[in-house]
Amino acid sequence: MALASKLNHEGVRVYCICGDGELQEGQIWEAAMTSSHYKLDNLCLIIDNNNLQIDGKVDEVMSIYPLDEKFRSFGFEVISIDGHDINQIINALNKAKTVKGKPTAIIAKTIKGKGVSFMENVADWHGKAPKEEEYNIAIEELKKNHVNKL
Ligand SMILES: [Mg+2]
Repeated sequence: MALASKLNHEGVRVYCICGDGELQEGQIWEAAMTSSHYKLDNLCLIIDNNNLQIDGKVDEVMSIYPLDEKFRSFGFEVISIDGHDINQIINALNKAKTVKGKPTAIIAKTIKGKGVSFMENVADWHGKAPKEEEYNIAIEELKKNHVNKL
């Protein structure tokens, strides 16, 4: 999509969100290499870097690190942020718009299940839905945590 936009002079920016576990797949790196080769500065990749995938911790299943160095070596501008900080997210997205001649990767460090005591950093929640009671507890905890931050 980013390449087509460039070729057609459409001026469209393309945003792609990837989990960290899926960065173990070869097609990701083929796309990264292509994005750099064609200087797709209209492409912004956002990586949800929670270090968890369905089988456990990413760095134990198959490490993708050092992620920043890998994307830099693939020709990306790399911005590392706290993925829970809205100001850092906005600043990174704005900075990505100013990058010329190469794609941008925003590495957003996150905590899976943040704000819910029994979900935080637990890989088991990668691929299942909470039961109704768990859902209710989670919503209450999120409300309480949100109110405490105001
Ligand atoms: Mg993950």
